[in-house]
Amino acid sequence: MIVVMKVGSPEDEVNRLMGEFKAWGLVPEKIVGRHKVVIGLVGETAELDPLQIQEASPWIEEVLRVEKPYKRASREYRNGEASEVLVPTPNGLVAFGEHHPLIVVAGPCSVENEEMIVETARRVQAAGAKFLRGGAFKPRTSPYAFQGHGESALNLLAAAREATGLGIITELMDAADLEPLAEIADVIQIGARNMQNFSLLKKVGAQDKPILLKRGMSATIEEWLMAAEYILAAGNPNVILCERGIRTFDSKYTRNTLDLAAIPVLRALTHLPIMIDPSHGTGKWEYVPSMALASIAAGADSLMIEVHPNPKKALSDGPQSLTPERFDSLMVEMAVIGKAVGRWAEEPAIAAV
Ligand code: PEP
Ligand code: MN
Repeated sequence: MIVVMKVGSPEDEVNRLMGEFKAWGLVPEKIVGRHKVVIGLVGETAELDPLQIQEASPWIEEVLRVEKPYKRASREYRNGEASEVLVPTPNGLVAFGEHHPLIVVAGPCSVENEEMIVETARRVQAAGAKFLRGGAFKPRTSPYAFQGHGESALNLLAAAREATGLGIITELMDAADLEPLAEIADVIQIGARNMQNFSLLKKVGAQDKPILLKRGMSATIEEWLMAAEYILAAGNPNVILCERGIRTFDSKYTRNTLDLAAIPVLRALTHLPIMIDPSHGTGKWEYVPSMALASIAAGADSLMIEVHPNPKKALSDGPQSLTPERFDSLMVEMAVIGKAVGRWAEEPAIAAV
């Protein structure tokens, strides 16, 4: 349920109401929007009469029920407004969201050694990426495949961050690694295979670093939003959703089916920022540029693209990785579409901290 306050409602009155709702056994959450303040109410609201709530203050404009199974993740919960995820990086504050320029995240699938991660970081930064991605802990289908260098790779990501000032996005697979990983990561990735690892979702919801939540490979949009709800309900409001392709009947020519329709669907259902990963979405570097361009045209807030200095030698996901040169030209192509849809930062998409 949400309680929309009138424009100009005194802060004292909003706080008084929050106290009253708490006394009713509800969990009130203050959401300050662009124009209005909204109080989100979670708990046993089914029996509550919106009219009774309305009477609690003359400053209440309206009381609305959130009919969806996900509450905090729903667009209604923020009275229709988009949320933004602000991430401090050494280069400045980076903003993900519908009202911000497109943010590009790029880097190798796995962190292989210091030289390659620092070199890749330098190259993608020069091309305009704001975040470096790279896995230290890799979820691999085969137990015999390269599993990532683990904790030691976190130090290599730290070196790349130091060298470039880029923000770092890296995957957490096991809650036991949360502490060292959160020390290095500016955004923690929860991979497709862990989208419904509810205990992991609760743990990352109970800490402060923003979360990149990838869509499970066979997850419906509703299941995905319910997974986001776990993180939001545990207290972390900073969640970015990443579509990375789903399993369909046809996997002969692409690794997954990239669901670009998820962009407008999510836009209608949720306030959370939307990222697209055309690298895992297609599995072939040749198809990444078209899908990246299409994602921008369709309204994505961010893109995640795998880039490797020597894809043929990559320890994971080489076939879907762009060379730095190909990434350079893709950024030029993306700027054309980004400008056309008003989502391209003329100057670095970084605001002063
Ligand atoms: C990755 O980003 O390298 C990765 C393993 O992604 P996903 O969880 O989408 O497969
Ligand atoms: Mn990968």
